[in-house]
Parts: sequence; structure tokens; C-alpha cells
Amino acid sequence: ELTNESNESNEANEAQQAVEKDRRYLWHNILPYSKNHKPMIGVKGSGSWVTDMEGNRYLDAMSGMWCVNAGYGRLELAQAAYEQLAELSYFPLTQSHLPAIRLAEKLNEWLEGEYVIFFSNSGSEANEAAFKISRQYQQQIGQHHRYKFISRYRGYHGSSLGALSATGQAQRKYKYEPLGSGFLHVRPPDGYRRPAGLSLTAFNEQCAQAIEDTIIWEGAETVAAVIMEPVITGGGIIVPEPVYVEMVRDICTRHGVLLIIDEVICGFGRSGRKFGHQNFGIKPDMVTMAKGLTSGYLPLSATAVRKDIYDAFKDEDLYGHFRHVNTFGGNPAACALALRNLEIMEQEQLVERSRVLGERLMAGLAGLAEHPLVGDIRGFGFMAGIELVEDKASKQPAPLAVMTEMISRCKKAGLIIGKNGDTVAGYNNVLTLAPPLSSTDEDLEFILTTLTKVMQEYTG
Ligand code: PMP
Repeated sequence: ELTNESNESNEANEAQQAVEKDRRYLWHNILPYSKNHKPMIGVKGSGSWVTDMEGNRYLDAMSGMWCVNAGYGRLELAQAAYEQLAELSYFPLTQSHLPAIRLAEKLNEWLEGEYVIFFSNSGSEANEAAFKISRQYQQQIGQHHRYKFISRYRGYHGSSLGALSATGQAQRKYKYEPLGSGFLHVRPPDGYRRPAGLSLTAFNEQCAQAIEDTIIWEGAETVAAVIMEPVITGGGIIVPEPVYVEMVRDICTRHGVLLIIDEVICGFGRSGRKFGHQNFGIKPDMVTMAKGLTSGYLPLSATAVRKDIYDAFKDEDLYGHFRHVNTFGGNPAACALALRNLEIMEQEQLVERSRVLGERLMAGLAGLAEHPLVGDIRGFGFMAGIELVEDKASKQPAPLAVMTEMISRCKKAGLIIGKNGDTVAGYNNVLTLAPPLSSTDEDLEFILTTLTKVMQEYTG
């Protein structure tokens, strides 16, 4: 029989071997290469907590990549996928299957409108589908020159070439350019960095007006769609005034430009409503979603298209239909799991919970406003961004080293947080929080006390 001690050293050995194999065989997302970097190898998740291979526990205040909305370790979700896999593991959506039908119906309920759903596997793919639908729709209705897309700087819409073209972050793009043509960018409503002397409302109106000006200067008959998140998330939690979103909706309608709302992060309760745009009372023409749709348990994404846009594709002529195929999109097990995930969110009222937790999070963070490094604290639903600066008056962004130090200190204290921004454009200085919506009161307390302590001990 093994003693505890040799058990422990076996585990340490296994962990060491896994790290070595990781270094040899795995190419990670984004991470800059460093020979001293030790990957965190996750082995278990429960609620808001994850455990690594060495047995350390962390509160995951980023919900993985903003996706584990219903929390880790839900056996009902595993069960829903298992049962569907045993029954019918795969069926193409050139035909149909019940989990996809049921999920599409449920998404209509959540969207509070009439939408037809096209399934894919990732947020990037959902946006690619939206772009292709936009261009083809404009052609179907006789608007043959409308091919351009307008999005905002700092927004992120995905990693594939089309979605990356719409992305407005230099750091993710500059090595892969030239990208798709016809993708234009405008300034986001980044109120914290607005010109001095301008009111927040006037600035938001100016930013919305910039979209209309761009449409007019480009020639409205060349613009297919605007794509934006309700709130810029990955680009640093940039929250618009309601007037901005209302104006953009109105501008698009007046110029025959479709409005695609990217709900990949804001959707599924993160914003304190079912979808982020519902906070602004607008109706998008298309809604793209992924991440929280399955709480990250399986890959699945969707492009929801306003019914009457879909109707323009009903042409029986051979060229009228949408010639887009996605082998794995709408996989039956992923759909069954997503449906169960939405039912859990309804039963446990996680959307309402998100709103309550978000308010408490912001109240708890308010004390940090006096910290010498904190320039601004922004929140929306159950997410928050803390913008760090070297100097509060000049708003000079805190250097990357400060950001990584803060993140690493939080991690040592058992808290995983994120950072966002754009290194190439000169700022990557927003600490981000987006914990699971199923977080307990104790989880929130842990987040607030840990972050506050780390920040109080580190003043730059
Ligand atoms: N849109 C937004 C707003 C996102 O945050 C992301 C991913 N972070 C995407 C699209 C792309 O999603 P995926 O990584 O699943 O392709």
C-alpha cells in the first residue's frame, strides 16, 4: 500500500510530466511564448471553482473565456449530452432533428421576437454566417452594391478572417493583414477617454453620429450592415449610454443597413437581461451568440435572423437560397445540452441573479476608486472592468507589467481574473471580471475581498 507521502510525490510527478508534454505538444491560444511559463492544467470544476493538477483551487472570475455562465460541474448538462449522444449522435442540418428544433423555438422565446436560427460551432462562425447572410440578403432585395460592414475600434468579433476583419483591435490583426475588404471602423463610445468638456451624452451622440457619417460618406447604397456588441466586452468593458444604441438602431433603419448585434459574451444573462440588447429596448436584425449558450460545456453557436430577412431567401430559384454549410453546427448533443442549460437558467433565475450579483459587485468595487492606479471602474450586468492608469489626470494607461503582476498576485491568492485592451494601440490596461452567474454570496465575497486585498498591497 502506498503511503500518503508517496501518493503525493506520484501526483507531483504526473503533474510535472504533463507540463513537459504540454510544452512539447500543445500550441496555446494567444499566450506569448516563455520558456518559464508553467501552464495551469485544469482537472476539475464545480460551481465557480476550478482545481488544477497540483490540487490548487481557484475561483474562476472569468468563467473560462466568459462562457461558463451556469457554473462548472453540472451533471444534468453532461446527462443531457450523454442521452442525446446515445440516441442520435449526429444528424446533418441539411435535414433536421428534434434538439435543434426545440432549441430554436426556445431561443425565440429568449429573443422576444420572431427569428430563424442558423447553427454553427463558435462565435466567429456565427458572425461569418451573419456577414454572408447580410450581403446575400441585400442582393436578394436588389441592393447589389451593399457589401460593406461597419464596426467599432476596440470591439472583438472573432478570429477567422471575416470576423477578424470586423474586429477593431490592432494587436489581433496586424500580423494577418491585409484582411477582408469593405470592413470599416469607427470610434467606440469610450466615455472615460472622451474629449474634455464634452458631456457623456453629447459624446455618445457624436459616436453614434460617426456611424451615420461613415454610411453617408461611403455611400449608403454600399453598406450592408453594422455589427456591434451591446457593450464592448473584450475590448475593455465599454458601456454606451442608451441614446447611443437607440441612435445606431435608428440610423441603420433609415439607411437600409442591417444591424447585427454580437451577443457572444453579453448573451445568456451576462448583461442582467437574457440578451444585452434588451437592456436598450432595441430589436436587432440579426443576433449572433455562442459561449453562454451551452455555458461552455460543448461548442455551439447561432445566428438568429429576423423572420422577414429569412423570407427573402425563400426564392425557389436555384440561386436564392443561402449556400452555407457547417458540418458540426447544431450538433444534436450540443443542442440538447444548450436547451437543458437554458432551462436551468430559467429554473434558477440566473438572469435575475446576474443583475443582483452585478449590482453588489459594482458596490463592492466602488471602494477601489481611490486606489492610485484605478482610472475608471465600469460594469454591466455581472461583469466589470477596472481600468488601470499610471496617472489619473493624464489617464496614461498602466504598463503591461503592472497588469500581469496584478493578475499573477490574484492567482496566487486563488482568484482568476482577466485583462483586456489592445497592446499595439498602446493600452492593455483593463482588469476584467465575469464570474459564473451561479456564483454564491460567498463566492462574490471571496472575489471582492481577494481583489481588494491584492490591490491595496500593490500600488504600482
Ligand atoms: N464575438 C465576441 C464578442 C467574442 O467575445 C468572441 C470570443 N471571445 C467571439 C465573437 C468569437 O467567438 P469564438 O472564440 O467562439 O469564435
